Amino acid sequence: MTNKYMYFIANWKMFGVLNSLNTLNRVVKFFKNFKKRKSLKIIYCPPSTLIEPMSKKLRGSNIEVGAQNCHQQDVYGAFTGSVNSSMLKSVGAKYIIIGHSENRQAGETDKLINLKIKSALKSGLKVIFCIGETLKAKRKKITKSVLNKQIKVGLKNIKNNKKIIIAYEPVWSIGTGIIPKSDDLFKTISFIKKEKKNYKVLYGGSVNPKNINQLKSINNIDGYLIGGASQDPKKFIDIIKKTYN
Ligand code: PEP
Repeated sequence: MTNKYMYFIANWKMFGVLNSLNTLNRVVKFFKNFKKRKSLKIIYCPPSTLIEPMSKKLRGSNIEVGAQNCHQQDVYGAFTGSVNSSMLKSVGAKYIIIGHSENRQAGETDKLINLKIKSALKSGLKVIFCIGETLKAKRKKITKSVLNKQIKVGLKNIKNNKKIIIAYEPVWSIGTGIIPKSDDLFKTISFIKKEKKNYKVLYGGSVNPKNINQLKSINNIDGYLIGGASQDPKKFIDIIKKTYN
């Protein structure tokens, strides 16, 4: 870990009710006393129902809040069950995850992702743009061309690299406990950084306190997008502590 500024982004997915916010007390306390706090950013992305109460709870803590997805249209419309990026901003979101593989698998295309990113930027949100290859693509050795297309179409006509963080999340790694080989991961992150110069690139997929020592030795990663382990404050804190050990 040689980067000066690291991101630790918690993706709670579809987990959590109001009571779950109590688990943040431990993280807030830890972060307040953490000596290296100036060199990292913590962002929690809960389900939409918790964005407002979480934002209120975290006020003054320097921990920020993000959303997990949005409708592509930034104005109101007849889209039952959807929320748009400006609605998410209005309840406290500063960031938004777009292009997560769980949504891609449910039918979200690169073109739709491009529209969502544009809408989120227009609303003033920073974007955590997820890309990653499936196991099938990895086996076919077409990871680079998959990522290239996701980046090209997803970020088409978008110049704002300061407001976008790329998260490389191989689909076969999410929730499986399997992480890429260090050498492969270094090469893939380098490839993404070459495709999109000056972008921060995070890694996501089964990050936990056991594998963080291996991951932190890969020195071109700018932080982590953490799913399952982020729901447990102890694991989340352990990941941060070990990153700086
Ligand atoms: C994710 O959902 O973005 C993720 C990385 O999940 P997990 O850490 O559980 O693999």
